[in-house]
Amino acid sequence: MVCEIPKLFGTSGIRGKIGSDITLEVAVNVGMAIATYAGGKGSKIVLGYDSRTSNVMIENAVTAGILQCGCTVLKLGMAPTPLVGYATMKLKADAGVMITASHNPPEYNGIKLWNPDGMAYRQDQERVIEEIIHNKNFNTVTWEDIGKIEEVEYVVSEYIKDLLDQSDVKPGIKVVVDCANGAASYLSPLILRKAGCSVLAINAQPDGFFPGRLPEPSGKNLQELMKVVKATKADIGIAHDGDADRMIAIDEKGRMADFDKLLAIVSREIGGKVVTTVDASLCTDKCMEEVGGVVIRTKVGDVHVAESIEEHNAQFGGEPSGTWLHPNFCMCPDGILSAIRVIELVQKYGPLSKQLDAVPSYPTIRDKVDCEDQQKELIMKSVEEKLHIILDDVVNVNRIDGVRITMADGSWVLIRPSGTESYIRITLEATSNEKAHMIRDQCSEFIKELL
Ligand code: MG
Repeated sequence: MVCEIPKLFGTSGIRGKIGSDITLEVAVNVGMAIATYAGGKGSKIVLGYDSRTSNVMIENAVTAGILQCGCTVLKLGMAPTPLVGYATMKLKADAGVMITASHNPPEYNGIKLWNPDGMAYRQDQERVIEEIIHNKNFNTVTWEDIGKIEEVEYVVSEYIKDLLDQSDVKPGIKVVVDCANGAASYLSPLILRKAGCSVLAINAQPDGFFPGRLPEPSGKNLQELMKVVKATKADIGIAHDGDADRMIAIDEKGRMADFDKLLAIVSREIGGKVVTTVDASLCTDKCMEEVGGVVIRTKVGDVHVAESIEEHNAQFGGEPSGTWLHPNFCMCPDGILSAIRVIELVQKYGPLSKQLDAVPSYPTIRDKVDCEDQQKELIMKSVEEKLHIILDDVVNVNRIDGVRITMADGSWVLIRPSGTESYIRITLEATSNEKAHMIRDQCSEFIKELL
């Protein structure tokens, strides 16, 4: 009999509602499992949390689990996710643990794990953690070997210094930063100020009720920031999510930047090899063409971007969500360093609105075809094998995450089964409206005929 080990980890660590999904038991178990996996007795594990009301409670439970396995907790306290990744690398720890639910509403929390080089745990590592928990395979110790807690707040000043060493920002630029009452409420405004910006910070008191705005940096949640940027005649606005591994910019006219275009202009500036996901826009390819750069596509999810950066030795990588990785700094996505990169662009080339408006826009269609869950695998197999034959001028078929077919002019279509609903999703971008509709019709007819 095959015993299915229950999945704890989703696309970005363990995530769920406090009390039902994220319980003290889960937290203690994760503490014991990560301590066991990272090497057991004598290993060192960095631990930080974001601004949620449940942060200290979960921190204590994870701590108890780690100590019971004879490991040292390197206690960071409240910290943005990038600082946890950085500290794990800098302090040569055996693992890092971040307690965060990122952009989710206040009743959520989660746990994300980090490798010694600051890169998030891969799926195969998360699977081992799940197995350890399921089989209760914990390397616990007896009373004389119980672990200790070391406070490591001193690493914050090293993070600030190392980040500033990365910065080419010159004094004089006016920035409004919206920290979402999240984990970077102190650090992001402080670092931007030290970098030379004139900073106005809003929602910059950590508060797990998120009284200023919800932690998702969406257009709906950033209305206040847009108004403040305009009203104060700032050069740029920066918004973080709750744990500040992400950021999005507001241009000087108070408009939220198009996520893809922002990724495209930063990629162009960095050049070389850049990694992005299969669902990211063609505008990054077009911008990279201008500088002779290469775009590598990988699966959706920041850990896949990180893996691909390592594999291809790329200079930069990002998801259109605003989760960007700067491998010459750390393998953990860093929303503060991402903000510095965008501010540098504004100083170098002028208003952000002009830079973004100059990036070409392409018609995009997101559609879906009803498909029962049990049929999905068969449909995707046919899509993989045959769809490219009926489309014109196909130059590339990428099967890394669903099927992404690219045409000679750069137009592309991505077919993926929905993970949660009974649909096959069609996402595409084309060089003209006419072509976009033609590709959509060809793909949806192809899928419907198979059903
Ligand atoms: Mg986040």
